[in-house]
Amino acid sequence: MSGGQAADRVVETARAAGLRLVRFLYCDLDGVVRGKATGIAGLGQRLQSGIGLTVAMQGFTLLDRLAPVEGMGPVGEVRLLPDPDTFVIAPYAPHTGVVLADLTTPQLGPYDVCGRTFLRRMEDRAAAAGLRVMAAFEPEWTLCRPADDRQPAWEPLDRSLCFSSQGMDGAQDVVDDVVGALEAQGLVVEQYYPELGGGQQELSVRHAPALRAADHLVLYRETVRAVAHRHGLAASFAPKPWPDQPGNGCHLHFSLRDLDGEPGCFADASGAMSRLARQFLAGVLEHLPGLIALTCASVNSYRRLIPQAWASAYRAWGYDNREAAVRVASPLRGQEAETANVELKACDASANPYLALGGLIAAGLDGIERRLEAPPPVAVDPHLLAEDERAAAGITRHPANLAQALEQLEQDRVLQEALGERLATTYRAVKELDLQSFAADDPDLEYDAHRFRF
Ligand code: GLU
Ligand code: MG
Repeated sequence: MSGGQAADRVVETARAAGLRLVRFLYCDLDGVVRGKATGIAGLGQRLQSGIGLTVAMQGFTLLDRLAPVEGMGPVGEVRLLPDPDTFVIAPYAPHTGVVLADLTTPQLGPYDVCGRTFLRRMEDRAAAAGLRVMAAFEPEWTLCRPADDRQPAWEPLDRSLCFSSQGMDGAQDVVDDVVGALEAQGLVVEQYYPELGGGQQELSVRHAPALRAADHLVLYRETVRAVAHRHGLAASFAPKPWPDQPGNGCHLHFSLRDLDGEPGCFADASGAMSRLARQFLAGVLEHLPGLIALTCASVNSYRRLIPQAWASAYRAWGYDNREAAVRVASPLRGQEAETANVELKACDASANPYLALGGLIAAGLDGIERRLEAPPPVAVDPHLLAEDERAAAGITRHPANLAQALEQLEQDRVLQEALGERLATTYRAVKELDLQSFAADDPDLEYDAHRFRF
């Protein structure tokens, strides 16, 4: 279908559904979903020409402060240009549609500070190597209820136990609505369960080609937050919403297919990883210290990456090892090749999913290009090894904070080259401003600023 036909179809569907507004959404460099909505009368035209947006927006932080980036100020525009293939009717907002947008130049050409455009470019790179990257983000989130007269104003919904059916009962109305709303938007729900922390939920959705998987996470976050709100509750995707509660991961599962969608290049019929898969994994591990600045992207992220929280604190990989940054998930019996996949645990929902996934692809492809060998798998909790055992096995601790991760990203030539100069420097400027904003080491300020931002 041509772009014009796809746009016509969106207008037709929107009119037939009686929509009044359609939101053009994007995820900014600090992980915040933003956008503008068009009235229905102008929808057809704006699907073609986009909606204007100040060029400053990619310099904004999660506190709405503008980072000092050359050219990002009051003068100049970009366009929010929707991808009509992403259009959905929002089940959680009356008479409202959602479409995900690229940021483009005013002439509608590619804009080098757009995360979605970056991920497309990385998908093209993979395609040039004959590969399609499949992915799924697996978000955890904390369902919260108002805390009468106390600060903070919200508290975890319950104190239910991990996987407990009582936790399911307590959250069932919201979760049922979330599942219905996700499926109405074309996401396929895989599994649901309450997780370890009070009010913590995990609901996974089916994998998809990389760009689509990142789009899904944006739609997912929009949906969960809004549905919770309609129930008088709130959903936190913060990596660490409360000091005394487990963190929320947003593990990134990935595998490779050939361009016909066949999984044989990644795993054989027994589910064993191919040489190519191991090289890709080795690339991800090699670049992990810098990649983490993209996947664990907030100041708050580093409160989650501590030993023995099942979030990973070390650069290591292993089979079903939940303390390793990279876990090779065991495939399902009878569908071994199709279900073989690898999980990056060092990822959370404060990341811009397009940057996180694009960075992962760049890292993995570098592993393939250089035919990197992964170190031996680790079959124990790396934290229990002695320092010298870890050193001998090449197991290193993750960067301790966002500043250290940014430093690693800065030094990673492969990731810098993949991002391109303008995206890399703008990203750095935004994150540096966050570091400054939270430099006072006031934990309450930091938790409050992150708790409901993503
Ligand atoms: N909540 C853990 C994290 O922060 C993950 C627990 C698990 O699913 O194994 O990543
Ligand atoms: Mg989990």
